[in-house]
Formats: sequence, structure tokens, C-alpha cells
Amino acid sequence: MTSLAFTAEELRYLSSLRQDFHAHPELGFEEERTSQRVAEELTKIGIPVTRGIGKTGVIGVIEGEAGPGRSIGLRADMDALPIHEESNLPFRSTVHGCFHGCGHDGHMTMLIAAARQLQARKAEICGRIVLIFQPAEEGRGGARAMIADGLFQRFPCDEIYALHNAPDRDLGKIAVGPGPVSASADFFDIDIAGNGGHAAFPHRTVDAGLAAIAIAQGLHTIVSRNVDPVDSAVLSVTAMTAGSTYNVIPDTARLSGTIRTMRPDVRKSMAERLVALADSIAAGYGAKATVDIRDVFSTLVNDPLHAAIVADVAAKLVGEDNLDRKPPIVMTSEDFADMLLQVPGAYFFLGQGQGAALHNPRYAFNDAVIPFGASMFVEVAMDRCGTPGSVGWN
Ligand SMILES: [Zn+2]
Ligand SMILES: [Zn+2]
Repeated sequence: MTSLAFTAEELRYLSSLRQDFHAHPELGFEEERTSQRVAEELTKIGIPVTRGIGKTGVIGVIEGEAGPGRSIGLRADMDALPIHEESNLPFRSTVHGCFHGCGHDGHMTMLIAAARQLQARKAEICGRIVLIFQPAEEGRGGARAMIADGLFQRFPCDEIYALHNAPDRDLGKIAVGPGPVSASADFFDIDIAGNGGHAAFPHRTVDAGLAAIAIAQGLHTIVSRNVDPVDSAVLSVTAMTAGSTYNVIPDTARLSGTIRTMRPDVRKSMAERLVALADSIAAGYGAKATVDIRDVFSTLVNDPLHAAIVADVAAKLVGEDNLDRKPPIVMTSEDFADMLLQVPGAYFFLGQGQGAALHNPRYAFNDAVIPFGASMFVEVAMDRCGTPGSVGWN
């Protein structure tokens, strides 16, 4: 064990900070109060802050005082989800229908906790540490917005790191491996135009709803019949709307859903099959389909060197027995992937003890995990920034 050294008073402070974030959740790009609180927490310990990168994003920079070295980026996400929290916690969400159901309140707190330790140790640090508080991770493109705003031109990083809490892993267990980690995600909408009419005269209509049902069934053959069984892929139709009453055959219908893959060629061919099936099935019913497919997330790929660095730090912190160096890929998506396309680095999972899953209305972040995540950030940053004379570029 190396770090994990937090006083009871510091842990109480961090827990109350996390619970404050939790009580006041905000959706992606709307993190006004949240980013204000993040900026205040950094400013009050002497870390200069730049706001407004990617709309509500916040950057803090810790300048090491021990000489030149690497620039290490540490990233946390800030947004909540449009889910109504089901809990009786005293600090439960005060915003109806909005909830930190992915633990980003905890991620911010762990990065602030790390910043408090790193700022206190800056006399030992070479180079600089860039604290990246990112908006809108949950499908609204916060990472891409920060990158488009010049994140890495204005705050160059040699390496970047991020974590996610994992309710399916025991408290303090860490998982990090090289290569692909999580899937790309496309969101799609298919608008079907038919010719509505009286339900008593179906022969005079083109039923857009019936065409939508056939298309939805057809799309679910893509994974089973067009994707190589050894590749990982998901296609889910998740929303279907058509019609509004009992005696009218719908004029239009809409299908929405997601495609998730681990490889660009699979992603491309699934999109092509989706368009071909939607077009041809709609045509078979006398309807017309218009397809919109949007690239929302990239595949997250850990650089092998940086994944190994995180794993070695974790081994020192929690022991090899609590470390999974070859976790299975997951078909969820994470927009830190786009930052990793700009700067090499690694993303790791941190067990927070068994409980309700991420995005479940009963999900609860476990404050006991704060020292683990904070210590991982601290130790990775200290290891990579280097102390005087220790920086070997690799
Ligand atoms: Zn999430
Ligand atoms: Zn998340």
C-alpha cells in the first residue's frame, strides 16, 4: 500500500462535497452550478482555473515546482442522467427526473480529492497536472466539445487518465487492460412515411406502423446473420412510435435505437445493412424509410503502455489480488474514448462494492471508494510526472 492516506476530517469533507453534487444534479452542458462548485473547490486551494471549455467544462492546472517533466491529464465527468432517483437518502436529488445515476458526482469528488493532495505536494512534482472536468459524457458529446474548443492545444497533455466506478466489482478492486475497453455507439432514427387512413379501409392505406414492425424485426437479424460470430456487436431498437388512436391507421412511424461495435469495419457494415433493410422492407410495404445514423461514441482503446502503468500503480496501491489486468470488453460506451484518440492514456474501472447497476434508479455511489479513486489519480500522476531526475521518456 502506498497512499490511501486521508484523515477522517478530510473524508468527511469529501463525502459532504460528493453529497452536495448528488443533491444538485444537472444534465449534460447544463452543469452551471456543478462547474461553479468545481471551480470554487480548486480556486480555494490555489489552483488556477479556466472555465467554459466545451461550454461548461472546467480545467485546473497544477504547476509542479521541481522542474520540467511531463504534462499529465486527469479527467472526471460532471453530468447527471434524466432518471428519477428512487431513494430515501437525506441528500437525494432535489431535481425531479434528474439524478447522478452513473456516479459522476463521485468521479468529480475523487478528482478534487486528488487535486487537494497533488497541490499540497507540488514542490515534489515535475511538469504539470491538468485537471479536466468534462461536461456531457452521457451521449451529448462533452469530450468532443472540449476537444473542438482547443482543450489539448491550450492545455497540452502527454498522457491522460480517467476512471469509472463499477458497482459490479468489490470495493477497491481495480480493472485495467490493454486494447479495446468499451464499444463505439451510433444512435439511429428511422422515419417511415406511409399513407394513413380509416382503420375500416386498410386496403386504401399504407400502414406505416406495420412497416415499422417489419423493419424492427428485420434489423434484429443483422447481428445474427451479417456479423462474424467472433466479433462483438449489438443492435437494439429501443423506441417505436406510431399512431395515436383506435380508428386511424398511422401515416408515419419512427424507430430509434443504437448500434454498438468494437471495430470500425463492423460498425460501417452494420450501418450499411441497416439502411438497406429499412429501405427495402419499407418499399415492400409501399412505404418510404428515411434513416439518420449519428456517430455518438468512439470505441475506447487503452494504450498498452499506459494501461500497464495504471495496473502497476494499482498493484502497489491495492495489491495484485485486487487487480484484474485482463477485464472483458463491455458494450457500454464512454466518451473519454475521443480524448484517447488525441492523447495516449488509459481508462480503468474501480469497484465500489456490489449494488444497483449504473443508470438504475436505485443506483447509489459508495463514498467509501473515494480514497481509492483519489489515490489512484495521485499515484498515477506522481509516477508519470516524475520527481527530479526520474523522468525517463518511454
Ligand atoms: Zn453513464
Ligand atoms: Zn458514467
